[in-house]
Amino acid sequence: MNLARFPRIRLAHLPTPLEPLPRLSALLGGPEIWIKRDDCTGLSTGGNKTRKLEFLMAEAVEQGADIVLTQGATQSNHARQTAAAAAKLGMDCHILLEDRTGYNHENYRYNGNVLLDVLHGASIEHRGGGLDMNAEMEAVADRMRADGRRAYTIPGGGSNATGALGYVNCALEMLGQFVDMGLNVDHIVHATGSAGTQAGLITGLKAMNAGIPLLGIGVRAPKAKQEENVFTLAVKTAEKLGCPGVVQREDVVANTDYVGPGYGMPAKDTLEAIDLFARTEAILLDPVYSAKGAAGLIDLIRKGHFRKGERVVFLHTGGAIGLTGYTHEFDVASKA
Ligand SMILES: *Cc1c(COP(=O)(O)O)cnc(C)c1O
Repeated sequence: MNLARFPRIRLAHLPTPLEPLPRLSALLGGPEIWIKRDDCTGLSTGGNKTRKLEFLMAEAVEQGADIVLTQGATQSNHARQTAAAAAKLGMDCHILLEDRTGYNHENYRYNGNVLLDVLHGASIEHRGGGLDMNAEMEAVADRMRADGRRAYTIPGGGSNATGALGYVNCALEMLGQFVDMGLNVDHIVHATGSAGTQAGLITGLKAMNAGIPLLGIGVRAPKAKQEENVFTLAVKTAEKLGCPGVVQREDVVANTDYVGPGYGMPAKDTLEAIDLFARTEAILLDPVYSAKGAAGLIDLIRKGHFRKGERVVFLHTGGAIGLTGYTHEFDVASKA
């Protein structure tokens, strides 16, 4: 595999740090926990979509696009990072936001990622929940093309084989850091949603024959569907990279026991994870993704799934700016 063959525009601060979490590890009494800080990719408060956008935006530029379109939930980190990347490259950005939660809180609708979408100059339109959002977006793009725009569409989460290359790159980056730091890593854990992160990581890990199991903690779909989505995309990613067949179905593992009431709706253990990481390690998690991933990590440690003497890397995929869209969950007024 040779990632340098693919067009790429540098948008992220790389490599992101890899750090130990000694206070959290001691508190939980299980494995040694490390954190890979993809919340620190740098672009407009960072997050995992920036790695994908390095390859996606390069493709948009190569195709001569003058506007990029994408879609996501109201507090989409992906939409915000796309708006930022487009601003940096002098392109227009149009976003379709889907109301997946029905939340009407002022901060949810206008603060957090939505505020940044606006600051980066993206135009926004809204849709109700439950539509085929990629189809909605393609219809809008077709209308723009009929008006003479050169529109490039990015699927939800930036999750296609081009975007997943960003997480193949992250797998290579992490394996290099493990060697440099002399770290023997037993497991990698992260939040999985639109599947591009897990698909890219597993493709990179398998292509390098790393022998490190990867666990995605789901935020939306049931287990069978999530694993199928990741596997389908990993197969395409491996083909694009010139190493077809490198990922087997059993390499793709998702645990979807921590979704809670639904996408974008935190459960009790989601909020506990935010609290625990903030108070023990000064790490900010987000209520939609990284805190559900962390809730899974914490619970699985408590259940003995990861053992003392093992070393686990939690990939922090970002999103903490979304906290300001969820102030209604934190009872700030009684504490401040
Ligand atoms: C999008 C996102 C994820 C999930 O990544 P996918 O590639 O969509 O599976 C995880 N964490 C955060 C903060 C995200 O924004």
